[in-house]
Amino acid sequence: MTQTASEPTFSRQRNENPKSSAEREAILANPGFGDYFTDHTAVVDFKVDANGEGGWSNARIEPYGPIAMDPAAAVLHYGQEIFEGMKAYRHADGSVWTFRAEANAARLNASARRLALPELPPEVFLESLRELVAADQEWIPTGDGEALYLRPFMIATEAFLGVRPAREVSYRVIASPAGNYFGGELKPVSIWLTTTYARAGEGGTGEAKCGGNYAASLAAQMEAEAQGCKQVLFLDPFNDNAIEELGGMNIFFVFKDGRLVTPALNGHILHGITRSSVMQLAADRGLQVQERKITIDEWRDGVAAGEITEAFACGTAAVITPIGELKMADGVIASPGEGIGEVTAAIREQLLGIQTGVVEDLHGWLTRLV
Ligand SMILES: *Cc1c(COP(=O)(O)O)cnc(C)c1O
Repeated sequence: MTQTASEPTFSRQRNENPKSSAEREAILANPGFGDYFTDHTAVVDFKVDANGEGGWSNARIEPYGPIAMDPAAAVLHYGQEIFEGMKAYRHADGSVWTFRAEANAARLNASARRLALPELPPEVFLESLRELVAADQEWIPTGDGEALYLRPFMIATEAFLGVRPAREVSYRVIASPAGNYFGGELKPVSIWLTTTYARAGEGGTGEAKCGGNYAASLAAQMEAEAQGCKQVLFLDPFNDNAIEELGGMNIFFVFKDGRLVTPALNGHILHGITRSSVMQLAADRGLQVQERKITIDEWRDGVAAGEITEAFACGTAAVITPIGELKMADGVIASPGEGIGEVTAAIREQLLGIQTGVVEDLHGWLTRLV
């Protein structure tokens, strides 16, 4: 699909009916995750014209609110949708920054190619974040592990029921003040190992950040909750039940000798930006990082022998969260340690420190938004 770049100039329509400052302060005091939204949204439209030329236009900031859509809109029937997840952090001097935004822009476009959606020029992506955060910057919480979660997404809005890539698409960004993804204090989460379901397969959409992957993970997540667990772990049933990832987070193991091991990308694991940042920060600390196949048997034996001393999940939403016990149909693998492990805590603190401006950003990962 050919397309012309839009000028990344956003028109601005203010919300005349924003939440009151008292309501906002109450939300910021206890943001939770994903329950509250700011006063504005960013929108850019895409359309293919009669000559088959696609282009982005009408970039704008408008009041947050419901989307009017034709009931035949393709996204509602065939799930042609992708998204991103990132955060805006308020630094002590009042400036606002985001983390590795160019990686999110590139990943959005990789997802777009897989879901046959149009690519968005990275400068429009970045400008959409700048504009939205500038409009809603009073919504950024600043407690430990807190930030303004940004959710860019793209949906097929063309009204038709034939099966083909939509010629009308909408790109949007919403923002939500975010605290601990799992609620309350940071503590190890219990994981359920599903052998009923897989989240992705060879040639599928596992590497794309699309809503369909999440819809496909929910039955497994319900299994997990029925077992009293917080998250579900997926395996690759075609590769000796190698560990892949959680529903929306990548996974790491810390070995007694200081090695970090994470499952190698196999074409159906999501390329987490937190994952790649953790790998870099671990290497900076002189720790050996291995991307390789790791199985449940290695996990079980490693914990039993005291070789695996920590495990953690990571992603923009969850930051770095320690993993406790792993439950499965035929037993349980005990938590590798108590509370949050030493290496997990150190990397988490360093990552959050860079993001919030209290640790030097040696890799040039931050982009100023406001
Ligand atoms: C978004 C996501 C992650 C984490 O990616 P980050 O870039 O670190 O936020 C991991 N797994 C899945 C399935 C995801 O959708």
